[in-house]
Amino acid sequence: MNNIPVILIVEDENGISNFISAILTSNNYHVIKCQNGKDAVTMAGSYCPDLVLLDLGLPDMDGLEVLSGIRKWSDMPIIVVTARGNEIEKVKALDLGADDYVTKPFGTLELLARIRTAIRHKQKSYNPLETDKIRIGGLVIDIVKRTVTMDGEVVHLTPIEYKILLMLAKNAGKVITLDSICKEIWGPYTNELNALRVNMANIRRKIEANPAEPKYILTEVGVGYRMAEDA
Ligand code: CA
Repeated sequence: MNNIPVILIVEDENGISNFISAILTSNNYHVIKCQNGKDAVTMAGSYCPDLVLLDLGLPDMDGLEVLSGIRKWSDMPIIVVTARGNEIEKVKALDLGADDYVTKPFGTLELLARIRTAIRHKQKSYNPLETDKIRIGGLVIDIVKRTVTMDGEVVHLTPIEYKILLMLAKNAGKVITLDSICKEIWGPYTNELNALRVNMANIRRKIEANPAEPKYILTEVGVGYRMAEDA
């Protein structure tokens, strides 16, 4: 029973906290809970949970402060829980080192998928399995040869398109902010948001069966892009 992942729920509303707790417990997670930011920082330190589910609207301090406080000493997976429509807050949380976010009200399946992804990515970064190919659905990226195929057909990408695709594929399941993609591809001192949009349209035209309803690269409106883990 030692290997049951421990999840710290930081949520001041009892109803929501109990609801999430019941879902997680019935899916074989061990749950610990607190209702304010001060206790969250303390419990994260003393229990070192496998993941923190952090509500940003807390009574005593801003959830973003809790996040940056924990990030000073730990890279434990943290998923923030945000209100619908607050894209700026989501981007801030990701930039401060959150692994992902869920938007209230969220579905059970979505929450569980986000938690699995965040814990898995953390384990991967501890035990980097050197692999030269990334496979997602029919998409295969050969990192050594720098080639891309979709359902066995070669996809011709420009160097920039390839870099964008690779960055998203390496982080499949996680949302990557527009800003961090731009910085990675074009460097920190330019604003290439339009170039990113143009490149993304081209990538989708080349890999998606229907670019208007993408299956591989999903848009997180106002925040960034998320590569599907399976398609
Ligand atoms: Ca709250």
